[in-house]
Amino acid sequence: MKAVRDWSVRHARGLHGLYGGVEAVLSLLDPLLRRIGHERLDKPLAKVEGVVKGFLFDSKSCGQCTLGSTGMACPMNCPKTLRNGPCGGVRQNGGCEVKPEMTCVWVRAWEGSQQLEGPESGLQVIQLPVDHRRQGRSSWLHALRQKRETRG
Ligand code: SF4
Repeated sequence: MKAVRDWSVRHARGLHGLYGGVEAVLSLLDPLLRRIGHERLDKPLAKVEGVVKGFLFDSKSCGQCTLGSTGMACPMNCPKTLRNGPCGGVRQNGGCEVKPEMTCVWVRAWEGSQQLEGPESGLQVIQLPVDHRRQGRSSWLHALRQKRETRG
């Protein structure tokens, strides 16, 4: 729902902190989660993510979440699904080129990111193209695996 996702961007700082908390708890639990098996846990966790993030951010469950870097605005709501926006067609009033009645997702991402560490903070991180094979899978578990790989 657009009103809720706009609210979420206005409260990006608090939600970003909460999101970080969830990640920290999952990191602590990761040894246990690995013993149970990420594959086994993927479906139920993806369901929880879908409900919570769907309500708060209109998440499209892409399975590779960028919310922490995009001011808590889900880029999958951009009609062009740009992961590194905006497209250049943003209207003078901030409206989307494709859906003029909607504020550009990247204008919202900018507003949200201004509440975080620095004005441009996460928005400067170049996002990889969407891997559609991850659609509907848990991005929390995906993030845990990525963290582990980075640590080596
Ligand atoms: S104006 Fe913004 S939301 Fe609309 S298509 Fe371009 S980047 Fe996406």
